[in-house]
This record gives sequence, structure tokens and C-alpha cells, in this order.
Amino acid sequence: MLFSEVVGQADLKQKMITLIQAGKLPHAILLLGQEGSGGLPLARAMSQYIMCKNRDGNDSCNTCSSCVKMNKMQHPDVHFSFPTYKKEKTKAPVSNDFIKEFREHILQFPYSNDIEWLDVAGAEKQGNITSLECKEIIQKLLMRSFESEYKILIMWYPEYLGNEGNILLKLIEEPTAKTILIFVSSNADEVIQTIQSRTQLFPLKRITDMEIKQALMDQHIPEEKATQVARLAEGNYHVALQLLTQVEDDMLTRLRTWLNCIYANQGIELVSWTLAMAELNKELQKKFLEYTLQILEHLIRVKRLGSNNLSLLESEQKIIDVLISKGLSEYAIQDISKLLNDAIYQIERNANTKILFHALSLRVQQLIHRKNVSLAMSS
Ligand SMILES: [Zn+2]
Repeated sequence: MLFSEVVGQADLKQKMITLIQAGKLPHAILLLGQEGSGGLPLARAMSQYIMCKNRDGNDSCNTCSSCVKMNKMQHPDVHFSFPTYKKEKTKAPVSNDFIKEFREHILQFPYSNDIEWLDVAGAEKQGNITSLECKEIIQKLLMRSFESEYKILIMWYPEYLGNEGNILLKLIEEPTAKTILIFVSSNADEVIQTIQSRTQLFPLKRITDMEIKQALMDQHIPEEKATQVARLAEGNYHVALQLLTQVEDDMLTRLRTWLNCIYANQGIELVSWTLAMAELNKELQKKFLEYTLQILEHLIRVKRLGSNNLSLLESEQKIIDVLISKGLSEYAIQDISKLLNDAIYQIERNANTKILFHALSLRVQQLIHRKNVSLAMSS
């Protein structure tokens, strides 16, 4: 993975490059960033840059034998350690038992997270990084390196280390020569204190909407869709990519259909819309409701301030204009927003979404046709 393939994080990348070029990279690093901000991609890009035999200024060459192996996550001197679970009764699990599946998963989804990985790996129980794994890490790093000057360990989610992590302390405090330990975490509070205090913190920033939008457009996603997805992803690039692949049609189309059915009292169409919504996964159902809430917030702003200050898409502006022309009041918007927030809450608690979207549609319909009467006033 190249630095240029990591979304955002410009300052941190530059800091890493400068330290590596000067030979001053600390030997134990804690990369800390919220889900989807790119901790593992950065750890991989940094390792590739360290190992590259023919660095091209501020990035790896991507063609030397070392880069070729790094791109397959198969460099013999770069070790990955990650949460696993007990598959066999007799033996404690170690990362090596899962390395093939892990490589496949991360190469396909570089911004993935622990939950998805453990799910793909078939875990039914809680994941873990075992004491046996810690002992194997020490052994691997004590060995002479195979082909590079350096040996690197990337531990993904040290949160999964219990007190057995203390086995690693001696290694962190007195590392073998030319050894770099990179811990990639998204929740510092859950990393054992002894590791936190012995590693140098490299914090990641939340990726901005603009950075996500640009990254998507670099992959030839049309600007309109890239803008919409970036806004919904809330700094999580993994979610952004999921939204792209999972949303066949976009949120705006769903919203337009929904509003059309509600305004025109099209009962049968509304039922098909409800069924289609119920088929989406939970995350997308929530994203749809959040998107609708955003549009309603914009609508209020347009009503109060005019549309000049907002970076709205043309298609969104149209839908807002239509709603304003139909006389949707601020009272109604507030009440609809309440219903949408309630629905998000219910989805998180595994409500039956067929019933939920149907009931929601009927209540929104009542509110819209009642125009200026508040829910609060009528109940
Ligand atoms: Zn190279």
C-alpha cells in the first residue's frame, strides 16, 4: 500500500516520512484513530516505505521485490497480529492459523474493522489475542530477518490483548535491533495501560468529507454521488465504500419515491416501497433516515436564510423546492424529525422494520396533510 493510496492524513504521513528518512522513527508506535480513518492502511504504507529498496521521494516505488511482497501482505519480515478465536478445542488460536483469510479480507477491504473481520473468519465467540500469540510474536522477532534490514510487527486491535499483553513488555522496552512494533487501535481506553505508556502515540485525524469525496471521485464516482456518500460516511472511509457498493440506487431516489407516494396517497406503491426498505440492511436503513433528516434540516435553513449559503446538490435543491411549494411547515418538519429519530432508535433495537417503515409512512402522511398542526398540539 502506498502513502498516496491512504485517504487524508496528510500531516501524519509527512511526519512519518520525515522520521523514516532521518532514521528517527520510534521503535514502538501506537496509531490511534476512529473506525474507518485508516490506521491499518497507514501502518501498511509506513511498513512498505521502510522496506522499499528504491524509495521514490515521499512514497514507496511500488515495483521493487519488497514492494511486490508488501502489496500481497506477504513480506517475510513484516508480521501481522490480529484478533482470532478458538476454532479447535485443543489449541489456543494464533494469527498464523488465520493468516490466509486475513490477507484476503484486508486486501479486499483495507479499511475493515474487527467486527467484520471476526465475522468473515467465522467467529461465533468473542475474539482474542492469546498469550500463545504473544509468545509466537517474541519468537518471530527474535529470529534474524529474512531479507530486509528491519523486522516489523503490525498488531491490529491491541484492545483484544488482556493482561497476557504484558508478555510483550520486555520486547517493547528492550527491542531487538532494527525492530519496529506498530499497534493500530481505535479505542485507547481499551488498550492495556502498560502498552499505552510504552509506545509513542501517533493520532489519526477524522477524514474530512472533502477528502472522502475526492478519494471517491478519483475512482471515477460521479461528483453528485461522491458528495452524498461522503456526507453520510461521517469520516469513515470503510462505510463510504460500503455505501457505494450496497446502495444500488441512491438515497435521494428512495426519498423522492417515498415522498411521491405519501403526497399522492399511493397506498400500493407505498407498500412496495416499505418492502424494499425492509430488505436493506440495518446500517443502510439508518443511513436513509439520517439522510432524510439532513434534507429536512437543509429545508429549514433554506426557508430561513435562502439557499445561497448551502452546498446543496441540484437534485436536493429541487426536492427542497418542491416541499416548500407544497407548504410543508416547520412544525410538521419538527414532528417528522422526531419520528425519524425514533425510527433510528427502534432499528438499533432490532424492531421489525416492515412494520416500522409502514407505520412511519402513515404517520408522516398524517403530519404532511395536516400541514400546520403540530404533533405536540394534536396529541
Ligand atoms: Zn519498493
